[in-house]
Amino acid sequence: MRLTAILTIGALLMASQASGQPAVEGRWTLVIHGGAGVIERDRLTAQQDADIRAALSHALETGSAVLRDGGSSLDAVEAAIRELEDDPHFNAGRGAVFTYDGAIEHDASIMDGSTRAAGAITGTSHTRHPVTLARRVMENSPHVFLRGLGADQFSVEQGLEQVENSWFETEERRRQLDEMLAREAEGLSAYDVDLKYGTVGAVAVDLEGNVAAATSTGGLTGKRWGRIGDSPVIGAGTYADNRGCAVSATGAGEYFIRVGVAHEICAQIRFRFQQRLEEAQASVPLDSEGIPEYYVHASEFGLEASDIQEIADGVIGEMESLGGSGGVIVATPWGTGTYSFNTPGMYRGMASSEAGANVAIYGDE
Ligand code: ASP
Repeated sequence: MRLTAILTIGALLMASQASGQPAVEGRWTLVIHGGAGVIERDRLTAQQDADIRAALSHALETGSAVLRDGGSSLDAVEAAIRELEDDPHFNAGRGAVFTYDGAIEHDASIMDGSTRAAGAITGTSHTRHPVTLARRVMENSPHVFLRGLGADQFSVEQGLEQVENSWFETEERRRQLDEMLAREAEGLSAYDVDLKYGTVGAVAVDLEGNVAAATSTGGLTGKRWGRIGDSPVIGAGTYADNRGCAVSATGAGEYFIRVGVAHEICAQIRFRFQQRLEEAQASVPLDSEGIPEYYVHASEFGLEASDIQEIADGVIGEMESLGGSGGVIVATPWGTGTYSFNTPGMYRGMASSEAGANVAIYGDE
């Protein structure tokens, strides 16, 4: 009896007495990105600016519809990314960058924060929606990570839509490769001419409080020797854990791999949550018999948005200190969505049950 009373009073007092932000029932959040980099106003035409905003809004609405209807965060991130993969403005699916040899090879990954199940693929050439192939690896194979021909074969066996490699090509990506090769021929630095990373990603929390993350990319222009970036590497470009958050990254993949950016952010959030929860529990006043007056339960406790921002900024800062650039999107089980990037801009968008939808491109928006 006594325990029940404590729990009930605790639940009622939580919102006003704990230092953290309590979990809000019936709250969903979706955050997407379409790449970070040297994205400045004078580098985009008005038409490009408008087209990219429209594409981000469309993908955001597609994923939001899933969450609004009570669908899972996993379905929402996949749905949003499939739209961005089909859009030629982004470096994923159609519109992905060319390899040094003039082909298009995709990398993608997805992770379910409720089970920490994950799936990833690298170097596929014919699957129209690489993110869906990653999900099939997670759900229909005993593995986490498939590469190249084997991944292509698994995709066919799964009955996923196949297209010619040339279907993914766009003139703008061809121009970028040609420019890179010309610079190389002149003895200039050929690495990443445009410094614009167009990888796409999505993170979400659904009405049940489950988080999920997914990322899809063509990698870097002119990649060779079978180079693999961070996007399909679980823990580097993508991670999801209900005890912390969901993260998707974009940027100079080598640095994100070295820092383990996505997992590092999730782990720091998990540890800080535990620390804050214990502090809140220890601060509960005791009654005359020395028994806590109410109970602070983990399910009714959450971190503040400022905590999440500080942690994400700290890890991006660490990645920067090694010489890297790029950004992340983060969603927590408590409904917080945030961005952090050290580049002039990042194609991005956020929607939630609380605050509607918003898309942005430049760093000062
Ligand atoms: N992170 C990706 C990679 O290194 C590139 C990007 O974000 O566009 O492959």
